[in-house]
Amino acid sequence: MSKVLNACKALGQYGYRKNKACRMSIFFICTIAIIGCSSGGKDQNLGVSERHTIKVGKIDEERVIKADEEPGDWLVHGRTYDEQRFSPLSQITPDNIDNLGLDWHYDFDTRRGLEASPIVVDGIMFVTGSWSKMYALNARTGELIWKYDPAVPREWAVNFCCDAVNRGAAVWDGQVYFGTLDGRLISLNANTGELTWEIQTTAKDKPYSITGAPRIIKGNVIIGNGGGEFGVRGYFSAYDAKTSDLVWRFYTVPGDPADPIEHPALEMAIKTWKGGQWWEIGGGGTAWDSMAYDPELDLLYVGVGNGSPWSRKQRSPGGGDNLFLSSIVAVRPDTGEYVWHYQTTPGESWDYTATQHMILADMKINGKQRKIIMQAPKNGFFYVLDRTNGEFISANNYVEINWATRVDPDTGRPVMNPEARYGADKPFVSIPSPLGGHNWHPMTYSPNTGLVYLPAMESAFPYQIDKDFTPQTVGLNLGIDPDAHAMPLGSEIRAEIRKSLKGHLIAWDPKQQKEVWSVEHPIAWNGGLLSTASDLVFQGNAEGNFVAYDARTGSELWSFDGQNGIMAPPVSYSIDGEQYVAVLAGWGGTMPLLLGEGVKHAAKHNVSRILTFKLGGSQTLPAHQWTEKTLNPPPLTGTAEQVARGKTLYQRNCFACHGDTVVSGGVIADLRYSSSSIHEMWEQIVIGGAFKSMGMASFAGALSAQDAEDIRQYVLKRAHDAVQEEAASNY
Ligand code: CA
Repeated sequence: MSKVLNACKALGQYGYRKNKACRMSIFFICTIAIIGCSSGGKDQNLGVSERHTIKVGKIDEERVIKADEEPGDWLVHGRTYDEQRFSPLSQITPDNIDNLGLDWHYDFDTRRGLEASPIVVDGIMFVTGSWSKMYALNARTGELIWKYDPAVPREWAVNFCCDAVNRGAAVWDGQVYFGTLDGRLISLNANTGELTWEIQTTAKDKPYSITGAPRIIKGNVIIGNGGGEFGVRGYFSAYDAKTSDLVWRFYTVPGDPADPIEHPALEMAIKTWKGGQWWEIGGGGTAWDSMAYDPELDLLYVGVGNGSPWSRKQRSPGGGDNLFLSSIVAVRPDTGEYVWHYQTTPGESWDYTATQHMILADMKINGKQRKIIMQAPKNGFFYVLDRTNGEFISANNYVEINWATRVDPDTGRPVMNPEARYGADKPFVSIPSPLGGHNWHPMTYSPNTGLVYLPAMESAFPYQIDKDFTPQTVGLNLGIDPDAHAMPLGSEIRAEIRKSLKGHLIAWDPKQQKEVWSVEHPIAWNGGLLSTASDLVFQGNAEGNFVAYDARTGSELWSFDGQNGIMAPPVSYSIDGEQYVAVLAGWGGTMPLLLGEGVKHAAKHNVSRILTFKLGGSQTLPAHQWTEKTLNPPPLTGTAEQVARGKTLYQRNCFACHGDTVVSGGVIADLRYSSSSIHEMWEQIVIGGAFKSMGMASFAGALSAQDAEDIRQYVLKRAHDAVQEEAASNY
């Protein structure tokens, strides 16, 4: 704590005062750091003694199965176990939506990205914010009831790729459950926010993280984790909600063949890994987001992530499907026993996870009533499977793709473009990119229209194996050539790739496997979705607008300026006969961190908020405070060789947080704007860990002092490039 304060003071002394924007941002960073240093626990509690007597959050299996009998609540992550994210509420309609207005907003005490779906029950909204913080609010007024800060060490940020986000909590039998970025699972008393239990679900010495929401099935809390980009072995686990005891664990990829296998399904899986020492780096297959549950079939469906490192040639040089990477796996929720799997991308090599949202529905297809599961994973195909046994029914690409041409209906396997299996000397620009045709942002299915609404993206990425790849102890382990994805700015291909980044809201007919309508967004990374019984579809977007569309035509009916880029999916609930729609607004996540250039006009300084609307709502947001940044880099002193070396090192170690080629998306510091004091402290920051309490870990062990200096020279080069670009644009 005192170190942070000293660092903050030092920044003041070193001239941060000169620049208002820098001053503001460092004030913010220091504030966050100080908050982060406070001991973990409930740091606000309004009327604990009174609240002890109130029964809230008494959710159980029967109540979730009968969720339609209390349509005013949002009981579980996707509202129902089938995760349709469809609200039966119909007070807000296309005819009266002009009267929809802001009723309350709640400003979080963080400014990082927000991705959570709130749970609303008994008039209380349970919602997670950045850094795995948990909040309980009065759902009618937005008044804070309690909050809980698990005090995630900020330097753990070096172990997760995609911002300090969390996608939500679960509420069960009077308790609130959520995961933390450093791998803990926590149970709090829903009335009071007091800690009931806390356990570590991951190895503390491995780069695991939790951003996904737990699901609770028959008293078992099911939780996965992330870390595929860093080098871990994926698994998901069930813990007893009352006792925190581990009930079962399902490993998604085999471990060291010299060790006994953990469960019988791995016997099948290990035959699909050939050669290589994948277990040394972990193999990947993290289950970091999607799940769904069918209580009648008693099947839990879990989406599994990409391989680690990315290319199969490095993990499993003898080929093979590498099960259960990029698969949907169905297990028994009581035991974790394997029932079936379907692999979307055999021999996965493009970060094409199958962790994307899965929706269960029943519908007549080709004259036959089917129980289906639907997913639009990153690889660009929309899949319809029989959820009783995993049988392939149909697939079609929902965005442009080039890695495969189609899915063979006889085998259920993609017909691949042979060029797509890139090598060290053979790059391939694949569509979609690692961002996916669709990422974690939830879809919605309306049983009224029979359509799935899907937040899709167009993107491409140049893949090439890193010849010099050796697993690092700190940071990313993609195995991808850092120079391939740092092709010189202005080159034709890079310009093409950047130009191709677009977003779409697509209404998709799952029976016909075709688009019915779509709306184009200028920025790719837009919000998750909600559909309602009155044929409305709600979506926030990267530009900060919260929009309602006509579910049948896609025409825009209503829009609100939320001031911050929106990624989270909206929810709807009602209290005393009034319907509310709520959404979290806070820009961040993978693309905003990575691709600053492509999202320039969305890179606002977050005021991370919950926005809640109702008919007749008449609140307004305070005016947004804009901050202007000034470029004033010290002179570039390095040689061209140093700059080139620094570029490779930057793209291998720094780009995931500070942005591709040092162009930040605005959520994390844009290093081109670093002051001379930052440049003076460079080695202390990068190697010495001076800013670790602010989320900048030490790279000691991964980088030498010379490496850090070369990176600095590359950053200086990029800062001077930007000065020139600015001068040219002002001319
Ligand atoms: Ca990944």
